[in-house]
Amino acid sequence: MASRASCAQRWRLSGLLAVMLLLPTALQAKPVPVPSEAEFQSWLADFKRMAVARGLSKPAVDQALRGVAYIPRVIELDRRQPEFSLTFWQYLSRTISDKRIERGRELLKKHEKLLSRIQDEYGVQPRFLVAFWGLESNFGDFTGTFPLLGSLATLAYDPRRRKFFSEQLIAALEIIIAGDIPADSKSSWAGAMGNTQFIPTTYRAHAIDFDGDGKRDLWRSLPDVFASSAKFLAALGWQGERTWGREVRLPKNFDFSLAGLNKRKKIKEWERLGVRNVWGKALPSVDLDASLILPVGARGPAFLVYQNFRSTMLWNRSIFYALAVGHLSDRIAGRGPLVAKAPANDRPLSRAQIIEIQQKLARRGFDPGGADGIIGSGTRRAIRAFQATRNLPQDGFADAGLLDALRADGVPQ
Ligand code: CA
Repeated sequence: MASRASCAQRWRLSGLLAVMLLLPTALQAKPVPVPSEAEFQSWLADFKRMAVARGLSKPAVDQALRGVAYIPRVIELDRRQPEFSLTFWQYLSRTISDKRIERGRELLKKHEKLLSRIQDEYGVQPRFLVAFWGLESNFGDFTGTFPLLGSLATLAYDPRRRKFFSEQLIAALEIIIAGDIPADSKSSWAGAMGNTQFIPTTYRAHAIDFDGDGKRDLWRSLPDVFASSAKFLAALGWQGERTWGREVRLPKNFDFSLAGLNKRKKIKEWERLGVRNVWGKALPSVDLDASLILPVGARGPAFLVYQNFRSTMLWNRSIFYALAVGHLSDRIAGRGPLVAKAPANDRPLSRAQIIEIQQKLARRGFDPGGADGIIGSGTRRAIRAFQATRNLPQDGFADAGLLDALRADGVPQ
């Protein structure tokens, strides 16, 4: 989803890895004081008055919010700052396992008729609907175990994103009052719901009762699940006659400053710049705008992406997520793995290492706009400027190789 709330779904970690990555955060995160019952109830009373002022029925609001409690664990999860972010390859291997591809293929076949009816109506290809379903909830296995209203009330009480989550709580109440879902529905800790993990405002605006039972049910009705995804994607500009993008091959000495979602060229122009399909053959001769995406910088795979990639990023604002949806849909349709392979030394940078990169850039006169441990556009610009003066490929990408280059760069500390 377009909201930051959906970041809860971006990094689904499991087993040992989750422990490794999340343990340090539990130690580091500043604990947020838990409100007393009286403080929370007083806030809840104010919230109810606001909801009624917004036109919701008082008895229905009172009934839905009866027994709703503050959930400290939700705030812990909201505040966690993983020490390491996954690399693209780590993310890909966790989101696109052989098992998930196989199951996606089986489910595509099993629900062929339904998916094709939905394609006729909303113009979204079945393989993409199955891919979103696989990534959002592992085909319905993980729809969340937190109380929906309790989680949203906790986040709406918390000052950090109060306005956003107050709106989500209002939307959830409207969906409940409309009779679509029960008040005790479960969600992710951030209030993402059902097989598609829609946040409440997305649910309210785009969920659809496709099986005609009078309820929009994204937990138990696959017709509702697929049609709702398709309707949402159509609203996000999905082009049903096009694919999402493709892996491509770049020529030697390519100008990496041309990469980025905000830079668009016709496929013909990319062709003129020497970009070829991944087997070195001509790109398709269609009149399409495309952007070049380098998720791992100059050393990794390159993708030309089209409108459906942009629509996917409006669903979940993560380049890794959008590449995973596209690639999983290709694999479900029977295509092969990426041609590019993960390097042997693929390892994530820690926040401390990113800060070190930012500090070293600043000392060399390339201003990253602060050393905050987060790679944003300022840091990428500073990296490009550094690379330009050191005769390195200017991909603006921070990785272990860049850190090594900065450490070896003979400038006073
Ligand atoms: Ca229904």
